[in-house]
Amino acid sequence: MAKYTGPRCRLCRRDGIKLFLKGDRCYSNKCAVEKRSYAPGVHGKGRKKAKEYGLQLREKQKTRHIYGVLERQFHNYFERAERQRGITGENLLSLLERRLDNVVYRLGLSGSRMEARQLILHGHFMVNDKKVNIPSYMVKVGDEIAFQEKSKDIPRVKELIDRAAQATPPAWFEYRYDQARGKVVALPKREQIDAPVAEHLVVELYSR
Ligand code: SF4
Repeated sequence: MAKYTGPRCRLCRRDGIKLFLKGDRCYSNKCAVEKRSYAPGVHGKGRKKAKEYGLQLREKQKTRHIYGVLERQFHNYFERAERQRGITGENLLSLLERRLDNVVYRLGLSGSRMEARQLILHGHFMVNDKKVNIPSYMVKVGDEIAFQEKSKDIPRVKELIDRAAQATPPAWFEYRYDQARGKVVALPKREQIDAPVAEHLVVELYSR
């Protein structure tokens, strides 16, 4: 399964914003965006302001980077969003939000989407009590997401469950603290998605 394997902090610096790709490190003073708030590379400091196309392209890249999706897959999501009723940009974000790796992250059951992806690939999660090891699995209303019982003895998993008990998941989930189990109670609406994305720029880019 293809994924980006290069330096993640570089993506944040290139997009000029904290994308929270590294879990706890992102909240520490080791964050690369806080230490060097300019684009990477020798010409990073002197980079000129992007024009219209550049802005649209950066917004698309930023959205991809936030959700950890490669180009081809992202384009597929866009085509699917276009075919749905409603506003294409909002449909696109809703589809990305419904990926299982994002859902695990939103429930607070992982430190980052990357960690969620790894935990899912290693078979630690169940959807509706069945093991699912596909990070791009698209959740639907009524789905219940939880760790496998046997995974709950792993120290990192224990830590994540304790942390999730302190977190407040978005309103489209119901979270049972006693069972460390989240349920999708609605599809995400735009105002419930806090990704710092101007999705209309992505739509404009693909409409060129
Ligand atoms: Fe981005 Fe996190 Fe690296 Fe900061 S520490 S640059 S937020 S990935």
